[in-house]
Amino acid sequence: MSLKVAVVTGANKGIGFAIVRGLCKRFDGAVYLTSRDEKRGRDAVAALENEGLHPKYHQLDITNPQSLKAFHDYIKEKYGHIDILVNNAAIAFFFSKARGVPAAIQAEETLRVNYFSVLSTCEILFPLLRNGARVVNISSSYGHLSYIPSEKLRQKFQDPNLTVSELSDLMHQYIAAAKQGTQSKEWGNSSYVVSKVGLIALTKIHQRLLNDRDIKVNAVHPGYVDTDMTSHMGPLSIEEGAQAPLFLALDAPDSVKGEFVWFDKRIVSW
Ligand code: NDP
Repeated sequence: MSLKVAVVTGANKGIGFAIVRGLCKRFDGAVYLTSRDEKRGRDAVAALENEGLHPKYHQLDITNPQSLKAFHDYIKEKYGHIDILVNNAAIAFFFSKARGVPAAIQAEETLRVNYFSVLSTCEILFPLLRNGARVVNISSSYGHLSYIPSEKLRQKFQDPNLTVSELSDLMHQYIAAAKQGTQSKEWGNSSYVVSKVGLIALTKIHQRLLNDRDIKVNAVHPGYVDTDMTSHMGPLSIEEGAQAPLFLALDAPDSVKGEFVWFDKRIVSW
């Protein structure tokens, strides 16, 4: 069989970087460390090369359609396929980053990166997935439906017939509510929660759409990890945070599909 290919988005630091490190150690194929900033990405590759590992590099800003297309064309031309896609890149307005940023801007920007750009990544790269491929979406404990106050909304997210366009409509409804300042009662007050709930709903829809092919799509909460995103408050190391994503990418039985998996590898009910 031709060379296998793994891709990790937002991998110049944090959990994504540790996922690349783990894949380099265990995956028999080309491992792509991708980053929106080329210098940060190449520095990360150099750090792993110093450890005797050999990741490959390509620039990839998931919010930029041209960057996504260039990456798609490069992989298509060089290999023709992808075997593992880890959608790790994300942002959060936590701690000092949230200070002074209006809720409407936080909503628009968080959903733009964490939901709509992950969706674009999937739409552009999924045609390259070959049979046996695994997609791992890095969600969060905050993606648990219990964080959404409205029962009606929770039912919509869980509807087994929900389509991608209906889900995207829900995401737009949240942004509109945040712009009007009316989001709290039904959606709660965290754009990050809504983005990660949306990502888990998307995981389940994509699994349904890919069910007739041998492709697994799962979402994972990596644990509370010591990274820039958490201002280094998380107790887990990035290696520990990479464990469940690596399990889903490499080890999980084929029966694990369309699931939400905890950092201790347990499947949790959503
Ligand atoms: P970091 O902030 O340390 O890393 C985030 C990575 O995403 C960086 O490499 C960043 O690049 C990249 N990124 C951001 N925007 C884009 C973009 N437009 N295109 C490409 N890359 C981008 O976060 P973590 O490592 O903590 O988080 C990784 C994932 O884990 C995220 O999905 C996060 O939501 C999730 N998560 C993290 C938890 C934790 O405790 N840390 C808990 C639960 C979930 P740059 O350096 O250029 O900014």
